[in-house]
Amino acid sequence: ARKFFVGGNFKMNGTKESIKSIVKNLNDAQLDSNVEVVIAPPALYLQLTADSVTKSNIAVSAQNVYDKPNGAYTGEISVSQLKDSGIHWTILGHSERRTLLKETDEVVASKTKFAIDGGVSVIWCCGESLEERESGNTISVIEKQLAALASKVSGADWDKIVIAYEPIWAIGTGKVATVQQAQEVHEAIRNWLKANVSDEVADKTRILYGGSVNGKNCKELAKEKDIDGFLVGGASLKPEFVDIVNSNL
Ligand code: 13P
Repeated sequence: ARKFFVGGNFKMNGTKESIKSIVKNLNDAQLDSNVEVVIAPPALYLQLTADSVTKSNIAVSAQNVYDKPNGAYTGEISVSQLKDSGIHWTILGHSERRTLLKETDEVVASKTKFAIDGGVSVIWCCGESLEERESGNTISVIEKQLAALASKVSGADWDKIVIAYEPIWAIGTGKVATVQQAQEVHEAIRNWLKANVSDEVADKTRILYGGSVNGKNCKELAKEKDIDGFLVGGASLKPEFVDIVNSNL
């Protein structure tokens, strides 16, 4: 069985004080012990967050990492620097980076491989725009993103990847995908893995849903057979994040 996974992507939000208080709330909460929780603060607060977490089932993740070992890459952070700070996770390929920072499928795949080779696990994001959905291209867009990933990673690399399906039109809009829309894409992702990677990888890879998940809509989504958790933006900054972590209870 796949262990339920809930990620909190703080994006470019928070202060030292607010992040300490979010972490304290999680430290003090009764969290379902069968859930893997990973929170991703802005890079500047990774160390503070890691130092503040007291629960063993909460890990800390970066929101991005670069695909060179070190050198003249102003503004970037390396995989070895994450590890040096005790950080073993990163998000990669978030749609905000794909669109605003112009990261291509290939760049995202290359960063994913580099992170994994350096011992950092990846929450790898994919998803379609509203235009792509309305023109009937949802599955083909995601398959193209997956194909770029699969061309770079292989074998045991997949043990270090969690896939997050985040339809762009559902991110930060309050417009959550319906349970059917989400399950349909999750199933298509799993079928693609089965056909193009292996039965084993298809069976064990966690596929998260992200996009306007909140304390109210999480329970219905969590019941679907191919939804193995969530990647939460806005609600991860609020106390209701605990309800999302506990959506299976
Ligand atoms: P919201 O939960 O704020 O819609 O953001 C989702 C997201 O992009 C998580 O990575």
